[in-house]
Amino acid sequence: MANCERTFIAIRPDGVQRSLVGEIIKRLEQKGFRLVAMKLIQASEDLLKEHYIDLKDCPFFTDLVKYMQSGPVVAMVWEGLNVVKTGQVMLGETNPADSKPGTSRGDFWIQVGRNIIHGSDSMESAEKEIGLWFQPEELADYKSCAQSWIYE
Ligand code: UDP
Ligand code: MG
Repeated sequence: MANCERTFIAIRPDGVQRSLVGEIIKRLEQKGFRLVAMKLIQASEDLLKEHYIDLKDCPFFTDLVKYMQSGPVVAMVWEGLNVVKTGQVMLGETNPADSKPGTSRGDFWIQVGRNIIHGSDSMESAEKEIGLWFQPEELADYKSCAQSWIYE
C-alpha cells in the first residue's frame, strides 16, 4: 500500500545538542506521518562509513563521519504516503542558501557541514538505511487510530 512507504530520518549530533529533537519529531508527527522506530544511538565508524558509502570519495567524507560520531544521533523510521519525497522537502536542501523557511534545515541551520538532520533520498536508500540502522524486530507493528482521518 502506498501509505506504507517508509523513510529513514536521523537527527544528527548537532540537532541533539541544540535541543531540536522534540521540534523535529513534532513536525513529522503533526504532518500525519507514523513513527515506526526510534532510538538514540552513538553510531560506530563502520556504520557511518557504510551509511555514507556513496560519498566515500568526496573530500568532506572523513569530516562527515567524524561529525556524525561526535555525539548521539536520533535514528528514526517514519511511514506514510510519499514519505521519502515529502520528508526530504520538510527537511530542506543540502545547500543552506536553498533551504526555505518552514523546513527544518531552513529554520535551524546555516552551514552545510552542521545541518542537524538526515533523510533518505530515494526509496532504495531508505530500504538500505533502515536495514543498516535497525533490526527488523525494532520496527513497531501497530495501527494508528488517526489513519482514517489522515487518508481518504
Ligand atoms: N556535506 C558536506 N559538504 C558538502 C556536501 C555535503 O559537508 O559540500 C555533508 C553534509 O553534512 C551533508 C552530507 O555530507 O548533509 C551528505 O551529503 P548529501 O549530498 O547526501 O546531502 P543531504 O542528503 O544530507 O542533503
Ligand atoms: Mg543524502
